[in-house]
Amino acid sequence: MHLFTEISRGVALAIFFVLLAACQTEPAVPELDYQISKSQWDSLPALEVRIKFQPAANEASRLDFSDTAWGQDSLWNTIRDFRVLSGAGHPLVERDSGWAVIPRGEADSPVEVSYKVIQDHVASDNPGLAYRPVVQQDYFHVFAHNLLMVPGHYRQQEGARAAIRISWRGWDETAVIHNSFGSRQRDQDLGILDLDQFMSAIYTGGDFRVYSRVIEGNPIHLAIRGEWIPFTEQEAMDMLTETVAAQRSFWKDHSQPYFTVTMRPFELEQGSSFQGTGLTNSFAASVSNNEFTDFQQLVYLFNHELMHNWVGHSIENEAEEAQYWFSEGFTEYYTAKNIAAFGIAGNDWGYYIEAVNDKIRQMAASTVQGAPNSEINYENFWTNRDYQELPYNRGFLFAFYLDQEIRAVSEGANSLDNLMRDLLRESRGKGAKLNGPYFVKKANRYLVEELGPFYRRHIEEGKPLPLEALFRDLGLEYRLGADLFDLGFDFSPERDFVVAVDPESAAYASGVRAGDAVVSRSIYMGATDREVELVLRRDGRTVPVRYLPKRKESIPQILDTPGNRELLSK
Ligand SMILES: [Zn+2]
Repeated sequence: MHLFTEISRGVALAIFFVLLAACQTEPAVPELDYQISKSQWDSLPALEVRIKFQPAANEASRLDFSDTAWGQDSLWNTIRDFRVLSGAGHPLVERDSGWAVIPRGEADSPVEVSYKVIQDHVASDNPGLAYRPVVQQDYFHVFAHNLLMVPGHYRQQEGARAAIRISWRGWDETAVIHNSFGSRQRDQDLGILDLDQFMSAIYTGGDFRVYSRVIEGNPIHLAIRGEWIPFTEQEAMDMLTETVAAQRSFWKDHSQPYFTVTMRPFELEQGSSFQGTGLTNSFAASVSNNEFTDFQQLVYLFNHELMHNWVGHSIENEAEEAQYWFSEGFTEYYTAKNIAAFGIAGNDWGYYIEAVNDKIRQMAASTVQGAPNSEINYENFWTNRDYQELPYNRGFLFAFYLDQEIRAVSEGANSLDNLMRDLLRESRGKGAKLNGPYFVKKANRYLVEELGPFYRRHIEEGKPLPLEALFRDLGLEYRLGADLFDLGFDFSPERDFVVAVDPESAAYASGVRAGDAVVSRSIYMGATDREVELVLRRDGRTVPVRYLPKRKESIPQILDTPGNRELLSK
């Protein structure tokens, strides 16, 4: 159900704990048994899933499986050989509704069905396809919602739970079975689990290698495969350990008994690309494996995704996209702040200053910078890169502003950190969900002036934050002016024609004109220091063009001085 995919600078970068104790006095929860076997379908490697569940009372049962999720569609294409093993009849697949109807068999006896999950795309290395099942001969990497169907009647109320078991069959001894609920276990008794938490998970197996460490009594794992070019697996594991220890210490929370990260490489010829997905007890990472990929990008990715373990998972949004300004923006902010504050991977407060400056530049370069929060919806988020980045950047700067404000009014006694820990306590204690008015109410405890109007203006309405005034008030040294990414022209929807050119742009100055056909292009989106290279065609002539895609804009940038580091860190 949760989805947090992320795309960062120039590059696809990407898109979360549960302690559920069985309560003896409550009525029995239904059982859900899965058996997953190594299999084949029409000579393709496949995972065969068998499910056993209690039928719905007096009617046919429904097994939920979304055809559309996480920006992917036609997911039913990955399901083959669907059968009802118990009773009579055949399943009736209703793709658009996102379920299959299973005819009712004998009275109350359990229903058993089976199906196979295959990889329906050829290039398993295509980063855009990371959210479809990857089922290869040597390994598999599949998110729960792409692997496991759940009976609809088990999930009628929010917080519905089931007693869940998963067994794994058919893999040889050396193969690793590793997922959000356990490592190297062929028979997994998950106990009684919230079904939303159950369905926010990653399942991997095959030729993965597992690195394990214990932090304050709790094990953490890194399951990784492939031969890595940009860093060693040990470096990745050391940094993960450092990150988990730092963030748990930030939240004062060492309550999680199991945590894992899965990491799969994919091929990419140019540039670097990262995807991370925060899940229950875990996050899954897909990372480009080439010389353009940098260890510091992995530091960012691990810190961002781990932060979702609290922001997004423990502190839950009331409505997904509507509160991305919090779940993504505040995650971004604490990624930068904690990397600096805990000195993760050798970074310091210079890292934090550059992160603030970078967000200011990204907001100024965005074509949707003033869009109201209501426009950050599923449709826009998944189809428009500028909308996708908006809640990350806007939320980060809002968090930065609020942090400085709380520090200033309390003369350093409090910070946004205190508010974050309050939110965590109330989410766990009272099951509170995060929305705007709730956030404002909790923040007001730490402020002199009521936050409501400011929140409405800068989050709901999307007006830019008065950052320069804040820098002045805080006594921060800053300069005005920075290079912003500016492509300078608009593509046709198919990206094969130039439809409009800004006459003030570097693109225009270098010869790009409206109506030009685009024969080839090399563009590092968001990078102001990499030349755009185009081959255009005009009046039957070929016109090669190259230019730096940037423009100057008068925006404030914090100087990285000892005084500023002192002001921001103390
Ligand atoms: Zn995120």
